[in-house]
Amino acid sequence: MKPERLKTRVLLWFGLVLSVVVLLFGLGVGYLFERNVTGSIHDRLTRTALELENRLVSGTPVETLLTHAAAQHHTVAIFRSGKLLGATQDFPAALLSNPARIAPFRLSDEGETLHAILRHPFAHPFVGSTVLAQVGINDKIEDLVDTMLFLLPLLVLVLIYLGSRLVDRILTPIHAITHAAERINIQHLSTAIPLPEKDDELRALVEAFNAMIRRLDAGREQIERFNSDVSHELRTPLTIIRGEVELALRRPRTADEYQMTLTTVSREIHRMQALIDTLLLLVEYAHSDAAMVRSEVEIDTLLSDVLARYEGLLHTKQIDIDREEIEPTRRPANAELLSVVFSNLIDNAIKYSPEGSTLHLALSSRDNRARFVIEDEGIGIPADHIPRLTDRFYRVEHSRSKTTPGFGLGLSLVQTIVELHHGTLTITSEVGKGTRVEIII
Ligand code: ATP
Ligand code: MG
Repeated sequence: MKPERLKTRVLLWFGLVLSVVVLLFGLGVGYLFERNVTGSIHDRLTRTALELENRLVSGTPVETLLTHAAAQHHTVAIFRSGKLLGATQDFPAALLSNPARIAPFRLSDEGETLHAILRHPFAHPFVGSTVLAQVGINDKIEDLVDTMLFLLPLLVLVLIYLGSRLVDRILTPIHAITHAAERINIQHLSTAIPLPEKDDELRALVEAFNAMIRRLDAGREQIERFNSDVSHELRTPLTIIRGEVELALRRPRTADEYQMTLTTVSREIHRMQALIDTLLLLVEYAHSDAAMVRSEVEIDTLLSDVLARYEGLLHTKQIDIDREEIEPTRRPANAELLSVVFSNLIDNAIKYSPEGSTLHLALSSRDNRARFVIEDEGIGIPADHIPRLTDRFYRVEHSRSKTTPGFGLGLSLVQTIVELHHGTLTITSEVGKGTRVEIII
């Protein structure tokens, strides 16, 4: 929508409503004013007529009455049984012929100015007699009408002009938002729209807009990091596969040699597959716990199932599992993700522990929370690395971990899953003594 069109529409509606309101107001004022003025004139004429009647009753001659009325700026005519007894000099001749025809009170604008005329029939003993009293209404009503006819349209125009300035003021920040939004693209997501000075709805809009841009920017950064990490991590297995295959193709090989090449290729393909699966899980569930399916999970059973998969490895490394503190525990959770947590923590503990050591596991539930602890007697983690362990692709650069297979993705995935369950992950470790990981969900 073009702002100009919005402004035109607002002003059109504003002008229309304003005109109607002003018109009704003018009519109302005019009506009240006229009623007021005519009411007071009616009273005045009635008083004069009654006075004339009283004086006539008390025997004052008609001529004296006429002089008296004229002195009060009234023009009067007195009739008896339809016949004119007398009239002040300037009484309009047209009204003299048939007084009975004249309405009891009316306004007449015959001639130059507006006049009010009252017909007042006399009571006893002058029944049948009438006085017509007329007075010029000073120009108040006409003045008012003229003034309003001039002033009200002027008022409408002034208000429309002020309204137009107001709309301009309201639209200025919107123009700024539009221009800023036009400059924003995927490469320049960090451009924030300047905040309007006043703390009002527009400021809230700009703030919401900027927050959205920041979220998009964070999302874009995540995607870029994801892309570079993935391509970086896939480069190594692909280089290995390519080297192996090219070497094998250089000349004819024995069946054993082909077997060895294919074994290497297969191992690297598995590595890539595992990497991609892990990355996809992370992307799928990161920031969307709404999509996560939960059900009541027997966590101790789930833990045993995961441990069973590591039986072979535990046996080879002669690592003992201390299960004494595992209690039956039920919690609503996502079983699939929870098993990813267990397998990663167990995998780490086995990977970074020496042969013949013991793994201590504890599982319990208290206050509607499940608590899982895994403690190994392995190489441990230097304290300054601990805060970064849950970063994606982060691996501690000690000699063991360089030669130990892994992507540095396990703990990042664990952290994401624990967050999806609104839980906490705590890692404590001492180099050379062992590592303890505690999870509460
Ligand atoms: P991946 O889990 O992706 O196969 P990884 O095990 O190296 O690779 P993480 O599980 O994220 O990655 O662990 C990050 C780093 O933390 C590891 O490289 C290792 O240096 C250190 N670490 C994790 N668990 C332990 C542990 N139990 N003992 C000692 N070091 C550990
Ligand atoms: Mg790991």
